[in-house]
Amino acid sequence: MSTISSTSSHKLNTILLRNLILPGGDIFFGQRMMEHLKFLEEAQWWNIDQINNYQNDMLSHLIRIAYDEVPFYRELLLKSKISPDEIRNTNDLQKLPIVTKEMLRKGYPKFVTRSTGHKTYEVSTSGSTGKNFFVKEDFYTAGLYRATFLLDLEWAGWSIGDPHLQTGMTINRSLDKRLKDWALRCYYHSAYRLDEKNLNEILTIIEKHKIKFVFGYPGSIYYLAKYASKVGWNQPLRSVVTWGDMLYPNVKKKIEDTFQTRVFDTYGCGEGVQIAAQCEQGNYHIHALDTIVEFVDDNGKNVSEGISGNILITRLHPGPMPLIRYSVGDVGKTSFEINCGCGRQLPMMESIYGRSGDVITTPSGNHLIVHFFTGILEHFPEIDSFQVVQKSDNTLLLKIQPYNEIDAFTINEIVRMLMEKGCDDMNIETEIVPSIPLSPMGKHRFIINETNIKHEKQPN
Ligand SMILES: [Zn+2]
Repeated sequence: MSTISSTSSHKLNTILLRNLILPGGDIFFGQRMMEHLKFLEEAQWWNIDQINNYQNDMLSHLIRIAYDEVPFYRELLLKSKISPDEIRNTNDLQKLPIVTKEMLRKGYPKFVTRSTGHKTYEVSTSGSTGKNFFVKEDFYTAGLYRATFLLDLEWAGWSIGDPHLQTGMTINRSLDKRLKDWALRCYYHSAYRLDEKNLNEILTIIEKHKIKFVFGYPGSIYYLAKYASKVGWNQPLRSVVTWGDMLYPNVKKKIEDTFQTRVFDTYGCGEGVQIAAQCEQGNYHIHALDTIVEFVDDNGKNVSEGISGNILITRLHPGPMPLIRYSVGDVGKTSFEINCGCGRQLPMMESIYGRSGDVITTPSGNHLIVHFFTGILEHFPEIDSFQVVQKSDNTLLLKIQPYNEIDAFTINEIVRMLMEKGCDDMNIETEIVPSIPLSPMGKHRFIINETNIKHEKQPN
C-alpha cells in the first residue's frame, strides 16, 4: 500500500511540476523552458527530413538576424561577399569563415552582441588556457538550453520530480537556480572540496533522501565512487549523468561498478549550448534541433565520417550573442552509424576528445590523446592515478601517483612502452607524486599541454 501511495504522490508531484510550477517559473523568469522541453520530447522522434527542414528554417532565420543586428557577423558576411539569403542549409554554412574565441573576445561586447528585449547577464567561461572569455546570455535563451539538458536527463531515465544530487562548482547558487533546485528536488553539493569529510556528507545526503540519480563532473563522481568503495558504501543508483569533462573509460568503469549503475555522458559548452548526449543505447546524439555541429581539419575543411576534427557549433537560437561556426576548442568525430537502436534519427557523433589542449603533440606530429596513455598505463596495477605534462616540444613529464610503491624496473618498462607505442621522438621524464592536484575548476586533468598555454597566453 505504502509503495502505491508514494508512487502516486510522486506522479502527482511530477504532473504539478510539469504543468503548473515550472511553467509558472518560466513566466516569472521570461523563459520558455517547459514549452521547449515538451517540443523536444516530441521532436526527438522526428524523421531526418523533418529534422533537416526544421534546422534549415532556423538557420536562415539565425543568419538573417545575425546579419541585420550584429556588426561582427554583418562584416564577416560582407567581407566573404556572401548574402545572408545564400545560407540556407548546413552545406551553405561552409561558405562562412570559422569564428574563434579570440575574434569574439576582440569584438566583445559591442560588435558581437545584440538586443533581444530580454534582460541579459554576463557569463565567464574558462577554457583550457585560463583566459577569461565572456559571453552574454539572457534568461530566455538559457531556458532553451536548460530544456535540452532536461531532455538529456530524461534519456538517462530521470523524470522531473525525481530527487537527485548534483555536484558542481557553484558556491553561490543564483536565485533562479536555487528556486529550480527546490522545485526539481535537486540536492546541490559543491565539488570544490573532495576530501573525505565532504565525500561522506554527499553519501549521507544520497542515503537520507533515497536519491537514485547523481549528476556532475566525471572527476568529482569518480572520487565519490573511490571513497564509497573504500568505506564499503554500496547503495545502488539508477543512473549517473556526467558533463564538463571527458569521461575516461577507467572513470566510467569505477563509477558504474561502485554504484551498480550506468553512466550517461552529456556534452555541452559553457557558452550556453547543449551539444550532444548519450541515449539509452550509449550513442551520442547531436541536439540537431538546437545546434548544428561540424567537424573540420586544421585548414577549416569539413572532414568525413570517422575522421576526427575540430568541433564547430552553430547555435540555432540567436540569443544576445549569436554563435555561428564557432570553434569550441574540442575535437570529435562524426559517426559512421546512421541508425540507432533507440529509434531517434538525430545525427550521432562518435566521440569527444575533450579540450584541444588535452592532447600531446610529438615533434613528428603524432597526436596522443588520453586513451593512448590509459591504454598503456592501465596494464600497470601499481598506478593509482597519473598526469602527463608536455613541458616543451620534445619533453614529456609523466607524474605517477602509485597505490603503494612502484619500482624502477616498472617505471622503465612504462617509459619503454610509451616510446614504442607512439612517442619515440620525445624525452620522457617521470616523477613519483603523492597526489595529483585537481585543476582550479576541480577537474582531474590527465593531460596538460604547457606548450599550448605558452603559445596562447596574451600579455595582459
Ligand atoms: Zn540513440
